[in-house]
Amino acid sequence: MRALERFPGVGPRSAERMALHVLRSPREEVAELAIALRDARIETLRCATCGNITLQSPCAICADESRQRDVVCVVEGPREVEKLESAGVHQGLYHVLIEGLAPREGAEPDSSALDALRKRVKKGEVQEVVLATAPDREGEGAARRVLESLQGLEVRITRLARGVPSGIRLEYLHGDVLADAYQGRRPFDD
Ligand SMILES: [Zn+2]
Repeated sequence: MRALERFPGVGPRSAERMALHVLRSPREEVAELAIALRDARIETLRCATCGNITLQSPCAICADESRQRDVVCVVEGPREVEKLESAGVHQGLYHVLIEGLAPREGAEPDSSALDALRKRVKKGEVQEVVLATAPDREGEGAARRVLESLQGLEVRITRLARGVPSGIRLEYLHGDVLADAYQGRRPFDD
C-alpha cells in the first residue's frame, strides 16, 4: 500500500483497494503486471527524433519511410499519438512533449522536448507544426510554450479546429471528431 500511494492521484484508500485487488487476483496476472512495470522502466527509451516512448529508436513511426516528413504533430503524450494513429488522419510525424523521464541505465538525461522540437524545425525539413495539445489549461500552456520555442523560425504553425469540445482531452475524443478537428486545423494565432 505504501508503494502504491506514491503514484499520482492515489490516496491511502485507493492504495488499499489496489493492494487488495492484487491479493485477490490470479498469480499469473500479478506476475504480468510486475513484469510490465519493470519492463516499462528498464526496456523503454525515448525516440531520438520524436521523443515518444519506444523499445527502439527511431520509433516505428519515425522509421517509416512512407510518412510525410514535413508535417509534425505536437502532442502531450503517447496516448494522443495512439489516438491520432487510430483516427488515421495524420500522415506526418509527431513530437511528444513529455518531460522529466528518468533516463535508461547508462543513457544521458533527456534534453528538453521543446529544445528538441526547435532543433528539428531548424534543420529545415519541417514545413508545418500542428498543435494537437488539449483545449484545457495544461494543454494551452503547452501550446504557448511550443509557440515561444519556435519563435523566429520559418514554419507554419496550425492547431486543431475548435470542433474539439473545450475541456475534453484528446485521448477521450471519438475518432471521427478528432479526424474533423485535424482536417479543419487552422493557423495558430487567429
Ligand atoms: Zn519517433
